[in-house]
Amino acid sequence: MHQVTIKGTGQRFPVGKIICLGRNYLDHIRELGNQVPDRAVIFCKPASSIIPDGGEITIPGYSDDCHHELELALLIGTAGKQIPVAQALQHVAGYGLALDLTLRDLQAELKEKGLPWEIAKGFDTSCPLSDFTPIEQVENPNNIRLVLKVNGEIRQDGNSAQMMRSVEEIITEVSTFYTLEPGDIILTGTPAGVSRIQSGDRLEGEIEQVGSLRVSVA
Ligand code: MG
Repeated sequence: MHQVTIKGTGQRFPVGKIICLGRNYLDHIRELGNQVPDRAVIFCKPASSIIPDGGEITIPGYSDDCHHELELALLIGTAGKQIPVAQALQHVAGYGLALDLTLRDLQAELKEKGLPWEIAKGFDTSCPLSDFTPIEQVENPNNIRLVLKVNGEIRQDGNSAQMMRSVEEIITEVSTFYTLEPGDIILTGTPAGVSRIQSGDRLEGEIEQVGSLRVSVA
């Protein structure tokens, strides 16, 4: 069973659902040539996809195009369903960093056939995840900088202010489809700059006020 920790509190949560938003940053939608969605694009990763800070990514042999996507992660601390925007943050226990690793070649093939692309997103090691920072320590989750470096070079440099849906709106929308439970994690989408990673790469994510995440590719 995978667990996540809230820094400085010793509080631990067994991980439930990992719910991910696609297409939440306009510049990333444009770089992939996707349509702007009316409704949030939502998919899930299994908890077995998690690796901790310092872990190692294994790119499956059936893909030759694994992309990094740095994302702000929300840890749900209090259960809720159909949560109003004004109360959304009361359900969050902390903020963390996640990589939503994506097998872009397999995803493109499945998308073209109109099939679900979960297997391009949920493979083992596809969700490097940091420890969580208590919610009180982040002033405004809708205005923080996200930077991802590969081998010391900046590839993604965005700000959560560029999200089409705010953290509160994401929680409201997701909770219309799924009951949120303590230990659930929401990945809020990625800014532009996604690119291919390969064996030996060192990835280093930083999110302002939240923390950092370092992983490498086997
Ligand atoms: Mg993503």
